[in-house]
Amino acid sequence: MKRLIIKIGSNILAPAGQGLDTTRLHAIAQDISGIADMGNQVVIVSSGAIAAGLKKLGLKAKPHDIKLQQAAAAIGQSSLMWAYEQSFAEFGKKVAQVLLTRDDITSRLRYINAKNTLFTLMSYNVIPLINENDPVAVDEIKFGDNDMLAALTAGLVEADMLIVLSDVEGLYSKDPCQKDARMIESVERITPEIEQLAGGKGSAVGTGGMYSKVLAARQATDHGIPVVIMSGTKSGLLPRLVKGEHVGTYFEPNKKRLPSRKGWIAYGVRSKGTIHLDSGAVSALTTMGRSLLPSGITKVEGSFDVGDYIYCVSEDGTRIAKGLTNYSSRDLEHIRGKKTSEIEKILGYKYSDEVIHRNNLVVM
Ligand code: GLU
Repeated sequence: MKRLIIKIGSNILAPAGQGLDTTRLHAIAQDISGIADMGNQVVIVSSGAIAAGLKKLGLKAKPHDIKLQQAAAAIGQSSLMWAYEQSFAEFGKKVAQVLLTRDDITSRLRYINAKNTLFTLMSYNVIPLINENDPVAVDEIKFGDNDMLAALTAGLVEADMLIVLSDVEGLYSKDPCQKDARMIESVERITPEIEQLAGGKGSAVGTGGMYSKVLAARQATDHGIPVVIMSGTKSGLLPRLVKGEHVGTYFEPNKKRLPSRKGWIAYGVRSKGTIHLDSGAVSALTTMGRSLLPSGITKVEGSFDVGDYIYCVSEDGTRIAKGLTNYSSRDLEHIRGKKTSEIEKILGYKYSDEVIHRNNLVVM
């Protein structure tokens, strides 16, 4: 049994402003039902609410007005769910709607609630269908795009694989429209060069949307979850992939898989500040697996409280870790560079010897 996250984008379900392509959606539901019938658990992250809503509002293109986009999402989400509900029912499958905002991932309590709900649904053989809760999401609590939401969901449910369905076959060595473009079968590590191929900053060859897919792939593979980017417009490919055939572009995972909680620290929760470390502290964290003590802190940036999550950077500014701080930024200004034995004398109290305990820290 494998647990798979399948991300389906608007450009597959609702191409060129035509509203939902229910024939395509039905074909995808058939393939996913086939995978579930092989004994796998599936969680779907599906876009298409805004596109479906626009059609109902009689609009052809996505409006710039955010309120109108949010209204379109509210209108379209029910159509989207209804289409999935009907298609999956034909294959004897039940679905459930889960709408999330970034806040639901940032808050540890809501993250755990969402996780429990998803696991309960799966234990009843129900396929969860996740989308961003667009009608209530404003910039500060948005995931940005559903590719990132899919990567976070993969971490949330400790998925065995993240499958991102695209309107092209995979990641190409050049613009896929060019004759000598070749599909890359496998990517060992997502380097800046790979990001460029996907249309990263300064690149002229990328296809729309591939960049955010590769960024999502980077996050999931860092987490230890393998990723496949493949075509979502051809029927029958998904079951072939799950049976072990090579389909699309495979992104190898980091060998060391992050446990769910550490994944949440690395990618779920937002950082409230940054502390700079000297080289001794950097090697204590990265090679010796130690906790962070105040003596190795050289500089404190931002304003944060006890219990917030903060980045640790090396002298040259490279991010090396993220973790939960036992001291506020104000306290750290006083105890940075000092010995643990001096903490109480300086502050008048001591929460702990460690500024960040090893168990609450992820090395990036
Ligand atoms: N949540 C949006 C929708 O359902 C799509 C966002 C995205 O795909 O990045 O229309």
